[in-house]
Amino acid sequence: MKNDKAVVVFSGGQDSTTCLFWAMKQFKEVVAVTFNYNQRHSAEIEVASSIAKELGIQHHLLDMSLLNQLAPNALTRADIEIEQKDGELPSTFVPGRNLLFLSFATILANQIGAKHIVTGVCETDFSGYPDCRDAFVKSCNVTLNLALDKPFVIHTPLMWINKAETWKLADDLGVLNFVREKTLTCYNGIIADGCGECPACELRQKGLNEYLHEKGVK
Ligand SMILES: [Zn+2]
Repeated sequence: MKNDKAVVVFSGGQDSTTCLFWAMKQFKEVVAVTFNYNQRHSAEIEVASSIAKELGIQHHLLDMSLLNQLAPNALTRADIEIEQKDGELPSTFVPGRNLLFLSFATILANQIGAKHIVTGVCETDFSGYPDCRDAFVKSCNVTLNLALDKPFVIHTPLMWINKAETWKLADDLGVLNFVREKTLTCYNGIIADGCGECPACELRQKGLNEYLHEKGVK
């Protein structure tokens, strides 16, 4: 088990791409893993693959289509609208997704001898997704270490920062333009600045505007 090797849970979006660059700075060897659960836009998988290729990162694509079978939702079914009703989780919520992703990423880490797992989950802008919370990730880490009897460390560099601060982190890592131009966050499958109208685009754009404004006035 190598202390300088990490597996990054990677979707090709702003958050996980920023985490990938963060990991490349922290660890000597970085491997990316993308889960295919029949996302609405297969563009997500293509974007992830092309970023990994460009950065020379070994990329594992794992089939998780069972997630779509178990938990149909707005990210995987074109006939389910992206919406959020008052007092409910958004229709983009995939129950148990991070539990499965972290489990499979750790099993992969075990297989390839990596001690570290990096994920871009965040409690600040978490839309109420329960498995993005810090307490969940810590508990999952303990469970996986017991299950595999090894001291894996799950890192969450974005846990306590907002979208503007995530842009700042990308800028500090020297990759703001890369993240802005090459990642896909938009629920309508449009790369870079996206459609500008879906909830994911709104959150991303608002954060970017805040950060650029803050940077401009300093
Ligand atoms: Zn959009």
